[in-house]
Amino acid sequence: MTPGGVGGCGGSGANPTGDLQSRLIAAAAAVIAENVERLSALDRAIGDGDHGINLNRGFSALAAAREQLAAEPLGRALQNAGTMLVMKVGGASGPLYGSLLMAMGKTLGDAAPTPERVVAMVDAGVAAVKARGRSDAGEKTMLDVLVPVADALRRAAVAGVARAELVDAVLRAADQGLEATRDLAATKGRASFLGRRSVGTLDPGAQSSCLLVHAVCGVIMEDAK
Ligand code: ADP
Ligand code: MG
Repeated sequence: MTPGGVGGCGGSGANPTGDLQSRLIAAAAAVIAENVERLSALDRAIGDGDHGINLNRGFSALAAAREQLAAEPLGRALQNAGTMLVMKVGGASGPLYGSLLMAMGKTLGDAAPTPERVVAMVDAGVAAVKARGRSDAGEKTMLDVLVPVADALRRAAVAGVARAELVDAVLRAADQGLEATRDLAATKGRASFLGRRSVGTLDPGAQSSCLLVHAVCGVIMEDAK
């Protein structure tokens, strides 16, 4: 299989977003690998301490399959990456991140990722996490980052702002959403066993979502240069 867009030959079978997909996978896998200890330390405080290790297992698998995933059309690659995360990550976060990517990929299908479709993809992905987790923002989970990120993306896309401004709005939403989890008491997942005692610590899943949003935005801004 030829990774689309790599090498600049542009053969008839080349995937137009292949190079982007390859860089997204590399950036996501790198940010998780660099933050394994930080994520597990947060999970040790209010969960069972495995969030960093869980995610690193899954994102390393994506990195190992990078060529194959980059050769597939974006929608299909997202669905396959989601399935791999479900299989490899385990815990609560595997099926949740898996649902996010699978729903995004299913929503895009074989279409090209126009701004309108990216908004629809992200909305569908976040809705799938809510459905799978029976949860919503305000419960000290990854949704406290994902929901405001989807809202910021939608608002910026509807307003038709430039890419840098859109990325700024998305990053601000992610950072604020993460920080807000500190003062929340968990009502879902393992941290909910602690009740009010979970207040004072950032949620590990919100932290990983925030890191992943930063990684994706970094790649998107590289593209704009
Ligand atoms: P586990 O809790 O099974 O050990 P992880 O440690 O990998 O799984 O992931 C924990 C993270 O998963 C939490 O910090 C939280 O963000 C997220 N999470 C757990 N349950 C839910 C849920 N019902 N809805 C949304 N996110 C959840
Ligand atoms: Mg855990």
